[in-house]
Amino acid sequence: MMIIMRTGASKKEIKHVVDRVKQYGLRAHISTGDERTVIGAIGDGRPVYRDQFLHLPGVDRILPISRPYKLASREFRQKNTIFPLNGSSVGGDGIVIIAGPCAVESRKQLLETAHAVKEAGAHALRGGAFKPRTSPYSFQGLEEKGLEYLAEARQQTGLPVVSEVMREEQIDLMADYVDVLQIGARNMQNFALLHAVGESHHPVLLKRGMMAKVDELLMAAEYILSHGNQNIILCERGIRTFETSTRNTTDINSIPVLKESTHLPVILDPSHATGNWAYVTAIARAGIAAGADGLMIEVHLHPEDALSDGGQSLKPERFVELVHQVKAISEAIGRGLAPHGELKQQVDIPAQTILRI
Ligand code: PEP
Ligand code: MN
Repeated sequence: MMIIMRTGASKKEIKHVVDRVKQYGLRAHISTGDERTVIGAIGDGRPVYRDQFLHLPGVDRILPISRPYKLASREFRQKNTIFPLNGSSVGGDGIVIIAGPCAVESRKQLLETAHAVKEAGAHALRGGAFKPRTSPYSFQGLEEKGLEYLAEARQQTGLPVVSEVMREEQIDLMADYVDVLQIGARNMQNFALLHAVGESHHPVLLKRGMMAKVDELLMAAEYILSHGNQNIILCERGIRTFETSTRNTTDINSIPVLKESTHLPVILDPSHATGNWAYVTAIARAGIAAGADGLMIEVHLHPEDALSDGGQSLKPERFVELVHQVKAISEAIGRGLAPHGELKQQVDIPAQTILRI
């Protein structure tokens, strides 16, 4: 349930309520709004008597949270969470574009691609250093060398970097190199990994599992939130259906559904959702028209030589065209592209507004 404090409730009153919440064996999550503080009291489903909180000093109202995902729900937090991305931001009005190769393949490939996507108007660089491949014989990524190239690209271009983390033990290493830890579709329900990135407080891009329902994606986000990290971007990347004409089926519906259900930013990855470069721009336009806050696009200098996902990667000149079209769509719906931020020297962990107590 949500304990909504009166406007101007004192710190002492808030602490008193939090202490009571803990006395009942519940977890307290504080969300500090412009006017009021809301305390989420989250338990294991056993009934707690609302009257025991209603009469505490400073308490205005108690409301139940009907959704199974509590901290991720719009009931808990009505305003959009705006996610800082080194001077730029995701979840606000402006559309954010993350672009780069599926995998970091070499220093030259990554640096040239980074400059090309920056030139075209991308806000962040993507590139996998650890790759989750269906076959153990496929290219698995350059690992730490790949992270070093990402850091160099970041330094040269000023673009913040997004890269996939596959195991808990990689988190500390990766947090030194990348701005956003990506959790891939295959790991969306790796609960130990979700727990660990929650505790790391490092920004996370959480991709929808290829067989996961929207509610399951939100419950995965809830794991991260409940361990104290609210810096999460959700990513629709297509789901498996009976249709085989494309690699996955873009669930465009999930975008307005997610925007209604959660305050977290929502982006679309039309590259994995279609698996075919020829459809990527059309589906990117559709995603923005449907209300996505951003896009993640795979770009390769020579897709025919790519070590992974070449078939769905755009050449830089096609990416330029995508950015133009997405800009036009975003302006038509009153949003526009997000302004480009100035990269700060260090990976910047944004201030937490939800704290685990
Ligand atoms: C990727 O972003 O390269 C990737 C592996 O995506 P997904 O986890 O959505 O398959
Ligand atoms: Mn890929």
